[in-house]
Amino acid sequence: MQSHRLRVEEQQQQHPLLERVAGTGSLREVTARIWFIQDGCGMVCAFITWFLVLYADFVVTFVMLLPSKSVAYAVVNGVIFNSLAVLALTSHLRTMLTDPGAIPKGNATKEYLNSLQLKPGETLYKCPKCCSIKPDRAHHCSICKRCIRKMDHHCPWVNNCVGENNQRFFVLFTMYIAMISTHALVLSMIQFFTCVRDDWTECSDFSPPVAVLLIIFLFLEAILFLTFTAVMFSTQIQSICSDEMVAERLRSEKLHRGRRWESMKTVFGGSVGDRSGCGQASLRHC
Ligand SMILES: [Zn+2]
Ligand SMILES: [Zn+2]
Repeated sequence: MQSHRLRVEEQQQQHPLLERVAGTGSLREVTARIWFIQDGCGMVCAFITWFLVLYADFVVTFVMLLPSKSVAYAVVNGVIFNSLAVLALTSHLRTMLTDPGAIPKGNATKEYLNSLQLKPGETLYKCPKCCSIKPDRAHHCSICKRCIRKMDHHCPWVNNCVGENNQRFFVLFTMYIAMISTHALVLSMIQFFTCVRDDWTECSDFSPPVAVLLIIFLFLEAILFLTFTAVMFSTQIQSICSDEMVAERLRSEKLHRGRRWESMKTVFGGSVGDRSGCGQASLRHC
């Protein structure tokens, strides 16, 4: 079993991506490494996500904070809100542009299988849709048109699958959006009560009806985003913590650590060797 695992690793090192091998050119190889799903719906949803975050940033900065009489209030909240916005958009980009753990397309060739020198009785699973050798826990995504390792789901808002390699960025994205939404909710309420108290005089540089509309839309957007991302964040953390399959495999490999801690480490910063443990184990029992 151990020798077979090593053979698979050796072969994967020799043929990391068949299309890359085929495209040992300059531009073709570089473009093959850039991960971006060309899905119309996903691209529109990703654009809407960016638009809504930038809209919130605009309302908070120009409608609420800049006209504020307290400089300290404006600076502190401005720095916090803009920092969270930058972190949210950065993690969104990293989720969208990171290969979630795609299996090399079309690697289930006769030559490749022969080169693995499988023993009689050993089985590898092949995906009939993308013609790849399918490790355990990999699933085919019809939008990405690839099999994805530890695929969680395909999220149109990040225009990508959430899988083994980009789950950490997705979790951070949902966390930052939940934090920024909470901040926007608090600022909206403070602004609203301040304006009501002052009878909407010197409340904002915008006219009262425009300011009210902008704040109400931001308030609704923040509630919607907070609900959505809070549920998504807790679901992700729950799925990471209860990942018993990974924990059992890691335990069987004599890594005596806490089950939850191992799963969290696997997602958020385990070494490459740790993360590839899933793939190794699946290939072993195939
Ligand atoms: Zn597939
Ligand atoms: Zn996908």
